[in-house]
Amino acid sequence: MRIVELFERDKPFISLEFFPPKEQVDWPVFFRSVEKLRSINPLFVSVTYGAGGSTQSHTLDIVTRLKRDLSLEPMAHLTCVGATEAGILAFLKELRSVGVDNILALRGDPPQDQPVVTSAERDFTYASDLVSFVRKRYPEMGIGVAGYPEGHPEASCLEADLDALRIKLDAGGDFVVTQLFFDNGHYWDFVGRARAAGVKKPIIPGIMPIFSLKVIRKVLSLCGASIPADLMAELEESNRLGGADAVQALGMEYARGQIKGLLEKGVPGIHLYTLNRDEACLRLLEGIF
Ligand SMILES: Cc1cc2nc3c(=O)[nH]c(=O)nc-3n(C[C@H](O)[C@H](O)[C@H](O)COP(=O)(O)OP(=O)(O)OC[C@H]3O[C@@H](n4cnc5c(N)ncnc54)[C@H](O)[C@@H]3O)c2cc1C
Repeated sequence: MRIVELFERDKPFISLEFFPPKEQVDWPVFFRSVEKLRSINPLFVSVTYGAGGSTQSHTLDIVTRLKRDLSLEPMAHLTCVGATEAGILAFLKELRSVGVDNILALRGDPPQDQPVVTSAERDFTYASDLVSFVRKRYPEMGIGVAGYPEGHPEASCLEADLDALRIKLDAGGDFVVTQLFFDNGHYWDFVGRARAAGVKKPIIPGIMPIFSLKVIRKVLSLCGASIPADLMAELEESNRLGGADAVQALGMEYARGQIKGLLEKGVPGIHLYTLNRDEACLRLLEGIF
């Protein structure tokens, strides 16, 4: 079923994002994790897609099993950077053959170690090209797209980034999942600007709990989102006084506060970047979902 049609069913909803473990030997543990998280009744679960090519078939295998064995509603992330129309069609065909109805259509990030391909040589330049392509070939499919409350790092300004979002939605995107943010004000500002620009489709906030200082520093360096200076200072102080456990406790408390604040102000749902951490996510959501 198209995910956007499920939004009205559970309000507010929780959805969960996973990444495919690189090694197949780790898959049994991964599926046990997902199974534990199934107890909170996610509206849908999404599985990331490696733009570098390392885990693309894993995404397909995993969404297949989530649908078939765990009866979850999966959304496969799909990137188009460096992809050919034939490759994308083959992937979509496989998804449809196993009954996966939804994708998150992304551009992805070009691998830095590969030669630059000119726009005349490539089949897809932006995520909007992928959205148009999928909408034309598989009009019945559900399509989510990415949105950036603080702007995408390559965008010249927030307005240009919002234009890019509108193009993706006008091309057939059903809803937006946002990049992580640590200040709910960024999300509300983004929603306000999008609505003022005529965007009417749902914008689902993406929340990433801080489980480790090392991981969050890496994530922030890659995605261009910011962290409030006082939160970072508190995390560093927790690390100094209580080590990794204290950082995780503070990170989880902060994420609970963010989630509660968003729900109080009426978001349609929360998309949780689980980092495949079942126990921590269950504790984080206890009493909320
Ligand atoms: C929720 C979420 C999930 C993600 N999952 C994955 C994943 O599974 N795998 C992965 O590799 N990456 C993933 N990413 C990261 C994503 O691939 C990168 O952020 C990438 O740099 C941009 O992808 P996009 O789909 O937003 O690109 P686009 O929407 O194409 O935007 C890319 C840049 O181009 C600009 N732009 C877009 N259209 C136009 C236009 N018509 N004219 C001029 N400029 C334009 C935008 O402003 C932006 O700066 C995810 C990001 C988010 C927020």
